[in-house]
Amino acid sequence: MITRDYLLKAMDKDKQVRITIAHTTALVEEARQRHNTSATASAALGRVLTAALIMGSDLKNEKDALTIRVNGNGTAGPIVASVDSIGHGRAFISNPIADLPSSSPGKLAVGELVGREGYLEVIKDTGMKQPFVGRVNLVSGEIAEDLSSYFLLSEQIPSLVALGVLVDTDLSIKAAGGLIIQAMPGADDTILEKIENNVLQMDNISAVMSRSQDLESVLGVIWGDIAYDILAERPLAFKCTCGRERLAAILATLTREELAETIEQTGKLEVSCNFCGEVYNFTEQEILNKKQKP
Ligand code: ZN
Repeated sequence: MITRDYLLKAMDKDKQVRITIAHTTALVEEARQRHNTSATASAALGRVLTAALIMGSDLKNEKDALTIRVNGNGTAGPIVASVDSIGHGRAFISNPIADLPSSSPGKLAVGELVGREGYLEVIKDTGMKQPFVGRVNLVSGEIAEDLSSYFLLSEQIPSLVALGVLVDTDLSIKAAGGLIIQAMPGADDTILEKIENNVLQMDNISAVMSRSQDLESVLGVIWGDIAYDILAERPLAFKCTCGRERLAAILATLTREELAETIEQTGKLEVSCNFCGEVYNFTEQEILNKKQKP
Protein backbone atom coordinates (compact mmCIF):
# COMPACT_ATOMS: atom_id res chain seq x y z
CA MET A 1 0.00 0.00 0.00
CA ILE A 2 1.23 3.48 -0.85
CA THR A 3 0.76 5.62 2.24
CA ARG A 4 0.86 9.13 0.79
CA ASP A 5 -0.39 11.07 -2.23
CA TYR A 6 2.43 12.22 -4.47
CA LEU A 7 3.70 12.25 -8.01
CA LEU A 8 6.95 11.49 -9.77
CA LYS A 9 8.19 12.82 -13.07
CA ALA A 10 10.81 10.78 -14.90
CA MET A 11 12.65 10.77 -18.23
CA ASP A 12 14.93 8.32 -19.97
CA LYS A 13 18.62 9.19 -20.24
CA ASP A 14 18.26 10.04 -23.96
CA LYS A 15 15.34 12.37 -23.23
CA GLN A 16 12.91 10.69 -25.59
CA VAL A 17 10.03 9.83 -23.32
CA ARG A 18 8.62 11.44 -20.24
CA ILE A 19 6.48 9.69 -17.63
CA THR A 20 4.51 11.38 -14.88
CA ILE A 21 2.83 9.07 -12.38
CA ALA A 22 0.61 9.98 -9.45
CA HIS A 23 -0.89 8.24 -6.45
CA THR A 24 -4.06 10.05 -5.34
CA THR A 25 -6.04 7.70 -3.06
CA ALA A 26 -6.39 9.98 -0.02
CA LEU A 27 -7.30 13.10 -1.99
CA VAL A 28 -9.88 11.27 -4.12
CA GLU A 29 -11.33 9.87 -0.87
CA GLU A 30 -11.53 13.44 0.46
CA ALA A 31 -13.32 14.56 -2.72
CA ARG A 32 -15.74 11.65 -2.35
CA GLN A 33 -16.55 12.54 1.25
CA ARG A 34 -16.94 16.24 0.49
CA HIS A 35 -19.31 15.63 -2.43
CA ASN A 36 -20.92 12.41 -1.21
CA THR A 37 -20.48 10.77 -4.60
CA SER A 38 -21.86 7.45 -5.85
CA ALA A 39 -19.32 4.74 -6.75
CA THR A 40 -19.31 5.59 -10.46
CA ALA A 41 -19.31 9.35 -9.81
CA SER A 42 -16.30 8.90 -7.46
CA ALA A 43 -14.44 7.15 -10.25
CA ALA A 44 -15.28 9.83 -12.81
CA LEU A 45 -14.42 12.68 -10.45
CA GLY A 46 -11.25 10.96 -9.23
CA ARG A 47 -10.00 10.34 -12.77
CA VAL A 48 -10.48 13.98 -13.80
CA LEU A 49 -8.87 15.31 -10.62
CA THR A 50 -5.91 12.94 -10.91
CA ALA A 51 -5.37 13.95 -14.54
CA ALA A 52 -5.49 17.64 -13.64
CA LEU A 53 -2.92 17.17 -10.86
CA ILE A 54 -0.58 15.34 -13.23
CA MET A 55 -0.94 18.08 -15.87
CA GLY A 56 -0.60 20.80 -13.23
CA SER A 57 2.90 19.54 -12.49
CA ASP A 58 3.96 21.10 -15.83
CA LEU A 59 2.88 24.61 -14.86
CA LYS A 60 5.92 26.86 -14.69
CA ASN A 61 5.04 29.73 -12.37
CA GLU A 62 3.72 29.73 -8.84
CA LYS A 63 0.49 31.53 -9.73
CA ASP A 64 -0.33 29.42 -12.79
CA ALA A 65 -3.48 27.31 -12.69
CA LEU A 66 -5.00 24.57 -14.82
CA THR A 67 -8.59 23.43 -15.13
CA ILE A 68 -10.05 20.39 -16.87
CA ARG A 69 -13.73 20.57 -17.71
CA VAL A 70 -15.49 17.47 -18.98
CA ASN A 71 -18.89 18.18 -20.44
CA GLY A 72 -20.58 14.99 -21.56
CA ASN A 73 -24.21 14.16 -22.29
CA GLY A 74 -24.46 11.59 -19.48
CA THR A 75 -26.28 12.01 -16.17
CA ALA A 76 -23.05 13.00 -14.35
CA GLY A 77 -23.28 16.49 -15.85
CA PRO A 78 -20.16 18.65 -16.14
CA ILE A 79 -17.11 17.60 -14.10
CA VAL A 80 -14.55 20.26 -13.28
CA ALA A 81 -11.12 19.91 -11.65
CA SER A 82 -8.86 22.84 -10.95
CA VAL A 83 -5.26 22.68 -9.77
CA ASP A 84 -2.43 25.03 -8.89
CA SER A 85 1.26 24.66 -9.70
CA ILE A 86 2.26 23.15 -6.36
CA GLY A 87 0.12 20.03 -6.17
CA HIS A 88 -3.17 21.27 -4.74
CA GLY A 89 -6.39 20.31 -6.49
CA ARG A 90 -10.13 20.61 -6.06
CA ALA A 91 -12.99 19.25 -8.12
CA PHE A 92 -16.71 18.77 -8.40
CA ILE A 93 -19.18 16.71 -10.37
CA SER A 94 -22.51 18.35 -11.13
CA ASN A 95 -24.64 15.35 -10.22
CA PRO A 96 -22.72 13.49 -7.49
CA ILE A 97 -25.45 10.94 -6.74
CA ALA A 98 -25.86 9.83 -10.36
CA ASP A 99 -24.89 6.20 -10.70
CA LEU A 100 -25.21 3.31 -13.16
CA PRO A 101 -24.83 -0.43 -12.78
CA SER A 102 -21.42 -1.61 -14.00
CA SER A 103 -21.41 -2.97 -17.50
CA SER A 104 -18.85 -5.68 -16.75
CA PRO A 105 -17.63 -7.15 -13.43
CA GLY A 106 -15.12 -4.93 -11.65
CA LYS A 107 -15.54 -2.10 -14.11
CA LEU A 108 -17.56 0.98 -13.22
CA ALA A 109 -19.62 2.51 -16.04
CA VAL A 110 -17.73 5.81 -16.11
CA GLY A 111 -18.06 6.31 -19.88
CA GLU A 112 -21.83 5.90 -19.72
CA LEU A 113 -22.17 8.16 -16.67
CA VAL A 114 -20.08 10.92 -18.26
CA GLY A 115 -21.55 10.37 -21.70
CA ARG A 116 -19.82 9.67 -24.99
CA GLU A 117 -20.99 12.86 -26.69
CA GLY A 118 -19.62 16.17 -25.55
CA TYR A 119 -16.22 17.75 -25.01
CA LEU A 120 -13.18 17.89 -22.79
CA GLU A 121 -11.63 21.26 -22.27
CA VAL A 122 -8.28 22.22 -20.75
CA ILE A 123 -7.83 25.78 -19.55
CA LYS A 124 -4.34 26.97 -18.62
CA ASP A 125 -4.08 30.28 -16.85
CA THR A 126 -0.46 31.35 -16.98
CA GLY A 127 -0.89 35.05 -16.29
CA MET A 128 -1.40 35.97 -19.96
CA LYS A 129 -4.21 38.30 -20.95
CA GLN A 130 -6.20 35.35 -22.24
CA PRO A 131 -5.92 31.86 -20.76
CA PHE A 132 -5.04 29.03 -23.14
CA VAL A 133 -8.11 26.93 -23.93
CA GLY A 134 -7.93 23.61 -25.78
CA ARG A 135 -11.05 21.62 -26.52
CA VAL A 136 -11.65 18.20 -28.06
CA ASN A 137 -14.72 16.05 -28.56
CA LEU A 138 -15.07 13.16 -26.16
CA VAL A 139 -13.94 9.79 -27.47
CA SER A 140 -15.47 7.47 -24.87
CA GLY A 141 -16.19 9.52 -21.74
CA GLU A 142 -13.75 7.25 -19.87
CA ILE A 143 -11.48 10.32 -19.39
CA ALA A 144 -8.08 8.70 -20.12
CA GLU A 145 -8.86 8.15 -23.82
CA ASP A 146 -10.43 11.59 -24.03
CA LEU A 147 -7.35 13.18 -22.55
CA SER A 148 -5.07 11.23 -24.85
CA SER A 149 -7.08 12.63 -27.76
CA TYR A 150 -6.71 16.13 -26.28
CA PHE A 151 -2.91 15.80 -26.14
CA LEU A 152 -2.71 14.57 -29.73
CA LEU A 153 -5.15 17.01 -31.33
CA SER A 154 -4.63 20.10 -29.21
CA GLU A 155 -0.97 19.87 -28.19
CA GLN A 156 0.33 17.50 -30.91
CA ILE A 157 1.91 15.22 -28.31
CA PRO A 158 1.40 11.46 -28.72
CA SER A 159 0.49 10.31 -25.21
CA LEU A 160 -0.52 7.23 -23.32
CA VAL A 161 -2.86 8.07 -20.46
CA ALA A 162 -4.06 5.71 -17.73
CA LEU A 163 -6.34 6.80 -14.91
CA GLY A 164 -8.00 4.61 -12.33
CA VAL A 165 -10.09 4.72 -9.18
CA LEU A 166 -10.87 1.56 -7.22
CA VAL A 167 -14.01 1.92 -5.11
CA ASP A 168 -14.54 -0.37 -2.10
CA THR A 169 -17.88 -2.01 -1.22
CA ASP A 170 -18.49 0.64 1.48
CA LEU A 171 -17.96 3.30 -1.26
CA SER A 172 -14.63 4.46 0.20
CA ILE A 173 -11.72 4.80 -2.21
CA LYS A 174 -9.43 1.80 -2.06
CA ALA A 175 -6.88 3.13 -4.54
CA ALA A 176 -6.56 5.91 -7.08
CA GLY A 177 -3.88 7.14 -9.40
CA GLY A 178 -2.78 7.65 -12.94
CA LEU A 179 0.03 8.17 -15.36
CA ILE A 180 0.76 10.11 -18.51
CA ILE A 181 3.49 8.93 -20.86
CA GLN A 182 4.55 11.37 -23.56
CA ALA A 183 6.91 11.08 -26.49
CA MET A 184 9.30 13.98 -26.91
CA PRO A 185 9.76 15.32 -30.48
CA GLY A 186 11.79 12.85 -32.55
CA ALA A 187 11.42 10.00 -30.07
CA ASP A 188 12.50 6.60 -31.35
CA ASP A 189 9.61 4.19 -32.03
CA THR A 190 11.38 1.24 -30.41
CA ILE A 191 11.60 2.88 -26.99
CA LEU A 192 7.93 3.86 -27.22
CA GLU A 193 6.93 0.32 -28.16
CA LYS A 194 8.93 -1.10 -25.26
CA ILE A 195 7.24 1.18 -22.75
CA GLU A 196 3.81 0.63 -24.23
CA ASN A 197 4.30 -3.13 -23.99
CA ASN A 198 5.37 -2.86 -20.36
CA VAL A 199 2.27 -0.81 -19.57
CA LEU A 200 -0.03 -3.19 -21.44
CA GLN A 201 1.39 -6.12 -19.47
CA MET A 202 0.59 -4.39 -16.19
CA ASP A 203 -2.78 -4.76 -14.51
CA ASN A 204 -5.04 -1.70 -14.69
CA ILE A 205 -3.60 1.31 -12.93
CA SER A 206 -5.87 1.33 -9.86
CA ALA A 207 -5.08 -2.34 -9.16
CA VAL A 208 -1.37 -1.59 -9.56
CA MET A 209 -1.71 1.33 -7.13
CA SER A 210 -3.53 -0.81 -4.55
CA ARG A 211 -0.80 -3.45 -4.62
CA SER A 212 2.34 -1.33 -4.82
CA GLN A 213 4.56 -0.05 -2.00
CA ASP A 214 5.62 3.11 -3.79
CA LEU A 215 5.53 4.84 -7.19
CA GLU A 216 9.24 4.24 -7.70
CA SER A 217 8.62 0.51 -8.06
CA VAL A 218 5.78 1.08 -10.55
CA LEU A 219 8.05 3.35 -12.60
CA GLY A 220 10.69 0.62 -12.57
CA VAL A 221 8.24 -1.83 -14.15
CA ILE A 222 7.15 0.67 -16.83
CA TRP A 223 10.69 1.59 -17.86
CA GLY A 224 11.90 -2.02 -17.78
CA ASP A 225 15.55 -2.08 -18.92
CA ILE A 226 15.54 1.55 -20.10
CA ALA A 227 17.80 3.80 -17.98
CA TYR A 228 15.99 6.84 -16.59
CA ASP A 229 16.19 9.71 -14.12
CA ILE A 230 13.55 10.93 -11.71
CA LEU A 231 13.23 14.65 -12.43
CA ALA A 232 10.78 15.69 -9.76
CA GLU A 233 8.77 14.49 -6.81
CA ARG A 234 5.93 16.39 -5.22
CA PRO A 235 3.23 15.80 -2.61
CA LEU A 236 -0.40 16.11 -3.76
CA ALA A 237 -3.46 17.17 -1.76
CA PHE A 238 -7.10 18.15 -2.04
CA LYS A 239 -7.15 21.84 -1.24
CA CYS A 240 -9.69 24.46 -2.16
CA THR A 241 -9.01 28.13 -2.74
CA CYS A 242 -12.26 29.30 -1.16
CA GLY A 243 -12.36 30.98 2.23
CA ARG A 244 -14.52 33.21 4.43
CA GLU A 245 -12.95 36.42 3.17
CA ARG A 246 -13.33 35.54 -0.49
CA LEU A 247 -16.98 34.50 -0.19
CA ALA A 248 -17.81 37.50 2.02
CA ALA A 249 -16.38 39.71 -0.73
CA ILE A 250 -18.70 38.07 -3.27
CA LEU A 251 -21.73 38.58 -1.02
CA ALA A 252 -20.69 42.21 -0.52
CA THR A 253 -21.25 42.82 -4.24
CA LEU A 254 -24.99 42.31 -3.68
CA THR A 255 -27.05 45.43 -3.03
CA ARG A 256 -28.51 46.11 0.42
CA GLU A 257 -31.93 45.23 -1.01
CA GLU A 258 -30.72 41.92 -2.38
CA LEU A 259 -29.13 41.05 0.95
CA ALA A 260 -32.31 41.90 2.85
CA GLU A 261 -34.36 39.86 0.41
CA THR A 262 -32.11 36.80 0.79
CA ILE A 263 -32.38 36.97 4.57
CA GLU A 264 -36.13 37.40 4.39
CA GLN A 265 -36.52 34.38 2.11
CA THR A 266 -34.04 31.96 3.66
CA GLY A 267 -33.52 33.36 7.16
CA LYS A 268 -29.75 33.40 6.68
CA LEU A 269 -26.80 34.42 4.54
CA GLU A 270 -25.26 31.15 3.58
CA VAL A 271 -22.87 30.38 0.74
CA SER A 272 -21.48 26.96 -0.08
CA CYS A 273 -18.46 26.36 -2.29
CA ASN A 274 -19.11 24.27 -5.42
CA PHE A 275 -15.62 22.87 -5.43
CA CYS A 276 -15.34 21.60 -1.86
CA GLY A 277 -18.84 21.76 -0.37
CA GLU A 278 -17.71 23.95 2.52
CA VAL A 279 -20.62 26.02 3.90
CA TYR A 280 -20.05 29.59 5.11
CA ASN A 281 -22.55 31.53 7.19
CA PHE A 282 -22.50 35.30 7.54
CA THR A 283 -24.45 37.85 9.51
CA GLU A 284 -25.98 40.73 7.63
CA GLN A 285 -23.87 43.16 9.65
CA GLU A 286 -20.69 41.35 8.67
CA ILE A 287 -21.46 41.83 4.98
CA LEU A 288 -22.67 45.41 5.43
CA ASN A 289 -19.38 46.25 7.20
CA LYS A 290 -17.55 44.80 4.24
CA LYS A 291 -19.56 46.94 1.82
CA GLN A 292 -18.54 50.10 3.63
CA LYS A 293 -14.86 49.41 3.22
CA PRO A 294 -13.35 51.21 0.24
ZN1 ZN B 1 -14.08 25.53 -1.57
